[in-house]
Amino acid sequence: MLSLLDFTLPELQQFLEAHSIKKFRAKQIFHYVYKQNITVWEDMVQLPKQDRQKLQNLLEIYIPPIVSRLDSANGETVKLLVQLADGQTVETVLMRHNYGNSICLSSQVGCAVNCLFCASAKNGFVRNLTMGEMQAQLLAFRRYVTTDLHSVVLMGTGEPLLNYDNVLRFLRTIHEAYSFYLGYRNMTISTAGIVPQIYKLAQEGIPVNLAVSLHASNHELRRKIMPIADTYAWEDIVRAAFHYFAVTGRKVTFEYILIRDLTCTPACAEELAARMAHKNVLINAIPINDNYDVGLRRPTLREMQAFVKILKKHHISVTLRREMGSEIQAACGQLRIQREAVDRK
Ligand code: SF4
Repeated sequence: MLSLLDFTLPELQQFLEAHSIKKFRAKQIFHYVYKQNITVWEDMVQLPKQDRQKLQNLLEIYIPPIVSRLDSANGETVKLLVQLADGQTVETVLMRHNYGNSICLSSQVGCAVNCLFCASAKNGFVRNLTMGEMQAQLLAFRRYVTTDLHSVVLMGTGEPLLNYDNVLRFLRTIHEAYSFYLGYRNMTISTAGIVPQIYKLAQEGIPVNLAVSLHASNHELRRKIMPIADTYAWEDIVRAAFHYFAVTGRKVTFEYILIRDLTCTPACAEELAARMAHKNVLINAIPINDNYDVGLRRPTLREMQAFVKILKKHHISVTLRREMGSEIQAACGQLRIQREAVDRK
């Protein structure tokens, strides 16, 4: 059955007319779903009974149930593993900031990019998520956790720019007044650096934030932890990111993972600072959690602070990411991997 959440307003109006239902009902339906959290056709009492019965057999409104939920001890992070209609599961995380709640969504089931440090990639790429499945993650939070939503970050499982059309459709739709009505400035796409798609995104006329997972101070180092580096060179990714900034005016964030004796060294900090000199960038430094399976270790606090200090000395804006939810394994993909291991037993 078709999913209501995959429809835009004009598409739903057309669909209703094709099934002899007045097109103005489309706005009423979306009002129920997106503004009132009513997702059962029978409860949409403004619609005539025969329309409700007809729609019941035509469109489903699937809010994914929770498979598991982890709350951080300080209450700042809630991580859900939710089940999609075909039985696949995806992770989605709520982070409470002082400026409001941010939801980190998945855009794919699994991921083909295969970063060495990422649990999401372990079992490979499964499939893209539809626009409706991304909206459903937001609705799941609204139903189970909170109705207060400030921003959306596509930084969960998957590479959003490899699911380009669905992701763009999703962002445009949640910007609409009938849907979540979020400003583009409250949306962030995180990418491992799919260069052609960054140039394409710059032309879309939607000024969303871009976070580029750079994770290394040069190409050779990046190749050790991100196989995608064989396709797109460090220099080309950085050039594309600055192009994005020039066209959209949105500041570019470079995500940089801190790995002991690999990316978090004084030499790396000096190199990164030199290559970013006089550029309007923000480096978001993220300490890795120890991952003994692949031999990656977390730096000491002193090492991380030394790294940050060198960048600051060279006037590079840098933040050391607050480690929201590390104790609930907020690193992407870990909950899903655990669940699959349990299911296999
Ligand atoms: S870090 Fe992101 S891009 Fe890399 S494998 Fe994980 S989900 Fe994919």
